[in-house]
Amino acid sequence: MQHPDTFLYDVIIAGAGPVGLFLACELRRAGCSVLVLEKAQDPHSPLKSLPFGLRGLSVPSIESLDRRDLLDDLTHRAAGGDTPAAAHWMQRQRRPGGHFAGIQFFHDRIDSSHWRYRLPGPIGSLAADMASIEAVFAIRAAELGVAIRRSCGVESFTQSDDGVTVETTGATARGRWLVGCDGGRSLVRKAAGIGFAGTDPEFTGYSAEVELADPAALTPGRHYTASGMYTYAAPGTIAMVDFDGGAAHRTEPNRERIEAVLRKISGIDVKVTRLALATTWTDRACQASSYRKGRVLLAGDAAHIHSPLGGQGLNLGLGDAMNLGWKLAATIRGDAPAGLLDSYADERQPVGARILDWSRAQVALMRPSRSSRALEAIIRDLIDTRDGATYFAERVWGVLLRYDLGDSHPLVGRSVPDFALDDGTRPAALLRTGQGLLLNFEARPSLDILARRWRGRINHVARDAGDRLGLTALLVRPDGIVSWVGEGTPDIEDASRAARRWFGEPE
Ligand SMILES: Cc1cc2nc3c(=O)[nH]c(=O)nc-3n(C[C@H](O)[C@H](O)[C@H](O)COP(=O)(O)OP(=O)(O)OC[C@H]3O[C@@H](n4cnc5c(N)ncnc54)[C@H](O)[C@@H]3O)c2cc1C
Repeated sequence: MQHPDTFLYDVIIAGAGPVGLFLACELRRAGCSVLVLEKAQDPHSPLKSLPFGLRGLSVPSIESLDRRDLLDDLTHRAAGGDTPAAAHWMQRQRRPGGHFAGIQFFHDRIDSSHWRYRLPGPIGSLAADMASIEAVFAIRAAELGVAIRRSCGVESFTQSDDGVTVETTGATARGRWLVGCDGGRSLVRKAAGIGFAGTDPEFTGYSAEVELADPAALTPGRHYTASGMYTYAAPGTIAMVDFDGGAAHRTEPNRERIEAVLRKISGIDVKVTRLALATTWTDRACQASSYRKGRVLLAGDAAHIHSPLGGQGLNLGLGDAMNLGWKLAATIRGDAPAGLLDSYADERQPVGARILDWSRAQVALMRPSRSSRALEAIIRDLIDTRDGATYFAERVWGVLLRYDLGDSHPLVGRSVPDFALDDGTRPAALLRTGQGLLLNFEARPSLDILARRWRGRINHVARDAGDRLGLTALLVRPDGIVSWVGEGTPDIEDASRAARRWFGEPE
């Protein structure tokens, strides 16, 4: 690899967390040279392993992994670990589909016929530990030729019209672009002067692995109490929410404190004999005022933070990376249409804002107040109705994620359905090149002509599908988002406009 002092990378990424690594793969696959700078020396942490490292992946995340041929690697790796993906709570009897502030909704209530343009994907749900997720991404990044430097945190940077110079621990690196994937306390965001506004924390959350003098003193499950909420899984896995305004976050959660908070919240005189592992978190919810400043971009927790309740942060970050990668790569190649890179923030900021509000709504329901308990009773009733369960599944699973790409068709702006094409292939496999995709179900010659004009940028597939939802053709962006739909005789002018908008001028 080139010496970082002299080589001009297309993109420098700060942070080798899941979002930085996934973005690095996206960019490298598209031909960009990528340097990832990571502050930590060692990628391993007990907090990335089970039970605390478990992350539920949403439908858009599962689809993204499938579209980049990472899904099998992750399911195999997670299954090879101590909690197989298939043993996750989502797979049990009266299968819970997920939860809102701990209130579960169940598969048997969900009406998926409501999702007119969805076809069942390869896997409905998946959870994996962070260690596996990061390892799978890091292996792929190395295979693709991404340079990853650990113990090499970004300390400062300067940017000019044509590049960014980054000062790291003991070295200087130069890139045409810098992307901050350096987590919630992002140095890149702060040094770029990008604001980070939102709501202050109401609570300190604790995750702890303990030994109890009497494990039977606590009842397993989730409990709302007069002073907070706790969940307990025997013999010693505990999560607690203490409405202290976030005051105890960032002070060491030692045995005495875990015991005191557990006693206070549970109202039970428990004795913690040993503390194996503990961490704290809050419900502070903030979002970057801008996702780009000049040649500096933000993705993942660097751009938005919120309470981990409901498990959305990683999914949100992977969605950022999937949206940003191909746009930044096209900008670097020089074939991006005007405004393509700015569409990253236009599309992703509203998605982030909605997730932050989803998280805030759950906090409101968890407050130890009589009004919150009253609200909880109402949500419990609603969530177990057909419409209620379907609504919560839509939000938690992310199945109806839609970017505002116009109103020409309900599918435009949404994820491409998982069509089973006549030769056995599926759109996910066809998107693995990182190009766009033109599905031409009726092999219309007019679309063949269009595809040839964008050769190299759009993969043209003229094949029918078992169920093609009444459509004639679709144009799909590299991130799997439908940008144009043809019904009956396709409107070629309209299709060409969509191709120009996302893939630039034709040859
Ligand atoms: C208890 C808990 C449970 C959660 N459960 C879920 C869940 O079920 N589903 C879900 O979607 N999300 C969940 N989340 C959220 C999820 O873990 C985060 O949103 C996700 O890890 C963000 O990824 P990231 O790559 O943006 O940031 P991070 O994972 O924070 O990675 C940032 C990386 O940048 C590095 N770094 C920091 N500063 C610098 C610097 N100056 N220079 C270079 N490198 C730097 C860090 O060392 C780190 O490796 C949970 C979070 C918690 C705390």
